[in-house]
Amino acid sequence: MIILDGKKTASDIKEEIAIEVANLLDKGGKKPHLAAILVGSDGASETYVKAKVKACVKVGFESTLVRFDSNVSESELLAEIEKINRNSSIDGLIVQLPLPKHIDEMKVTEAIIPEKDVDGFHPANIGRMALNLPTYLPATPAGILELLERYEVETSGKNCVVIGRSHIVGSPMSILMARNNNPGNCTVTLTHSRTKNLKEITKTADILIVALGKAEFVTADMVKEGVTIIDVGITRVKSDKTKSGWKLLGDVDFKGVKSKCDFITPVPGGVGPMTIAMLLKNTLISSKSQLY
Ligand code: NAD
Repeated sequence: MIILDGKKTASDIKEEIAIEVANLLDKGGKKPHLAAILVGSDGASETYVKAKVKACVKVGFESTLVRFDSNVSESELLAEIEKINRNSSIDGLIVQLPLPKHIDEMKVTEAIIPEKDVDGFHPANIGRMALNLPTYLPATPAGILELLERYEVETSGKNCVVIGRSHIVGSPMSILMARNNNPGNCTVTLTHSRTKNLKEITKTADILIVALGKAEFVTADMVKEGVTIIDVGITRVKSDKTKSGWKLLGDVDFKGVKSKCDFITPVPGGVGPMTIAMLLKNTLISSKSQLY
């Protein structure tokens, strides 16, 4: 069993990006610049945005954080996005989700110009992804591909089962694993809350990608010997064994399944750290105008 170490891989990618930034500056170029918009003060969103800003500093990017109260109007938010769209010194823009209920998330996603959509959520970029054209891949799926590639996990011709069909993980993951690409070329089954006989399907998986948000949902009896498991889930549960009083659990019963796996990602330290690394990579690509 080999652990797909996302913490170490993400750190390697950040080092590679930092070297590229130093080279860009040496050649008289400018620092890549990521702008983030945070609406409200939700604890988890605050933590994610802070981690993204910190990562920017670490690799030598410039970053701008724009904060709004949770009662900001949709039109005010859209106006700020428009301003950043027009600001040529900013290469990438992300709006931290979820947004308050009175704001239409899809409208906001579509307001960011595809050229600066480094989260890869804009319908134009999702379309380019589906057509196997160069684009910004959504960060979490991109991080999973990067892990599979760097650990040389064979995907061609394999059965890949994805659990969960969210717009940010499950659905793009199913498209990416089916593309004529490496990693890719799998026969993919996308499962969700209405899927019948899930266990029968997961037992056929050579590669199982789990993103449903239910702690330790996948158990040893649901997988076959030699499976590769990618656990995307993050659930915070109370713990009396940690200093913080909390611990993070994945969607997979890691201890129970690991002896059956060829490869498996841990939680924490698997997919999570890769997400930010891939956001930085997309911002670097944008700053070099490599796509548009
Ligand atoms: P979501 O919450 O938007 O959707 C969950 C999906 O799971 C739905 O498509 C639903 O149909 C499916 N589902 C629910 N119950 C099911 C069941 N019993 N059987 C089969 N399918 C079922 O999903 P999301 O936003 O992709 O998040 C999933 C998990 O991944 C969460 O724990 C989230 O915190 C985590 N996450 C982690 C990262 C990361 O960087 N590691 C990024 C995004 C999400």
